[in-house]
Amino acid sequence: MTSAGNCTFNRAKLLNVGVKEALKDEDWDCLFLHDVDLIPENDHNLYTCDPWNPKHASVAMNKFGYSLPYPQYFGGVSALTPDQYMKINGFPNEYWGWGGEDDDIATRVRLAGMKISRPPVSIGHYKMVKHKSDKGNEEKPHRFDLLVRTQRTWTQDGMNSLSYALLARELRPLYTNL
Ligand code: BGC
Repeated sequence: MTSAGNCTFNRAKLLNVGVKEALKDEDWDCLFLHDVDLIPENDHNLYTCDPWNPKHASVAMNKFGYSLPYPQYFGGVSALTPDQYMKINGFPNEYWGWGGEDDDIATRVRLAGMKISRPPVSIGHYKMVKHKSDKGNEEKPHRFDLLVRTQRTWTQDGMNSLSYALLARELRPLYTNL
């Protein structure tokens, strides 16, 4: 899934669009929200959902010395059932540029009365493909201002306020490109 034109990247909103479109195709029982630069390194790390809580799969990335950078970290790879996704009102749409949206999602999980579930650190291993910071995805220093507002905004900003124009939908053998 890509955003058209030269506008700033918005990871969380693109994931909302992916979920909305994917659920039009099938009644999926598990949604994996996966950064493209992360390669799973341990095949005991099952690509399944936890039926009770949103799962954070990328708990040990080489970039962070194979441990969580901080306890609430929710970036990289996560897995939610469609019910869990809707319970947190999906992901925020207002995080343009790099950073913060994963912290917002972790807060949503807590505010919706759930906990983050994780595989053991010895299993949730990922290697991040080395790349320079992407043009159009510059770090946003004001993300901390957005984060202090999550408690007030999460029920209004998310799947229930998502608006977008779908320019193309191409069915490929192994995936659909939006
Ligand atoms: C950012 C997160 C990012 C984390 C680790 C935080 O400061 O807000 O989006 O995942 O750093 O790089």
